[in-house]
Amino acid sequence: MAESAISSSRPRVLSGMRPTGKLHLGNYMGALANWVKLQDKYDCYFFIADWHALTSDYADTSKIAANTMDVLLDYLAAGLDPARSVIFLQSKVLQHAELNLLLGMITPVGWLERVPTYKDQQKNLANKDLSNFGFLGYPVLMASDILIYQPQFVPVGNDQIAHLELTREVARRFNQFYKLDGREVLPEPQALLTPSPQLPGTDGRKMSKSYGNTIQLTDPEPLVRKKLKTMVTDPARIRRTDKGDPDKCPVGDLHKLFSTPETLAKVYDGCRSAGIGCIECKGWAADSLVQILQPIQDRRASYTEAQALEILENGSNRARLRAEQTMVEVRAAMQMTQNGKSGQ
Ligand code: SF4
Repeated sequence: MAESAISSSRPRVLSGMRPTGKLHLGNYMGALANWVKLQDKYDCYFFIADWHALTSDYADTSKIAANTMDVLLDYLAAGLDPARSVIFLQSKVLQHAELNLLLGMITPVGWLERVPTYKDQQKNLANKDLSNFGFLGYPVLMASDILIYQPQFVPVGNDQIAHLELTREVARRFNQFYKLDGREVLPEPQALLTPSPQLPGTDGRKMSKSYGNTIQLTDPEPLVRKKLKTMVTDPARIRRTDKGDPDKCPVGDLHKLFSTPETLAKVYDGCRSAGIGCIECKGWAADSLVQILQPIQDRRASYTEAQALEILENGSNRARLRAEQTMVEVRAAMQMTQNGKSGQ
């Protein structure tokens, strides 16, 4: 098992999420559904970034373990397959911390202060004190998480390309300072652009946990229907007799992503002619969502927490072997070795 993770000749990809609790349809469409497809073509590493949760939630760590379990079960429920992907927990691979320390030595503070999300998040999360060293340095930890697996690709949506660029700059700086037998140790990963349609939440804004407008992958059918009933619609349709436009309606956006062409045609005709009411239309959208969610929920129910933890343990063992391969080279390139030997 471990050997196959290390010797695969397929290009390697890596991605991860912070353990924020149960995942929602926006997470699924923006990342997970793509990751599931990548498993057919790439040597995949997917992780749960529990140390990253500490960068902003250091004062209250009581939910991290439960949130990690929820994300893990949602990974498996979405279709990440431990036979084809290495699924692991960041904090179980201590090599990430070692590389974070070493890359921290070479990363200029100015690079970190210029990361747009640094100032944005400090403003947006004004209720938290984010003047800590860990929060400023999270892009270095992120670079370490990526570079330690020497992946060729990192799957990103259009809006995340800038994040990957800093990782590439850190790799470039490392490679300028240090070489191993004349060659570069940390290849710059390329962005693997993946479609990430923006999914509207029930209030019409982007679906996001912080807006409280999500449909979770674990929501049972009655709850999905209830949430959709309250969803905002095209503001032009005040009365049942008003004509509307699915292109100006968040429910229409859901239909475009999840409904069959036949249903979508009925939605366009019915909405533009006022032939259907919004309640009926939302019912059809709920039908489509339930069709997507049901197999995900069935798969989630097929795993016990003990089985999921075993998968995480095995994946972390495999990830550690791969990470250590990189660290042997990194230590040697930096001449951080005793008696000419690298390793711990
Ligand atoms: S009929 Fe459907 S698409 Fe049209 S405004 Fe109502 S909910 Fe939106």
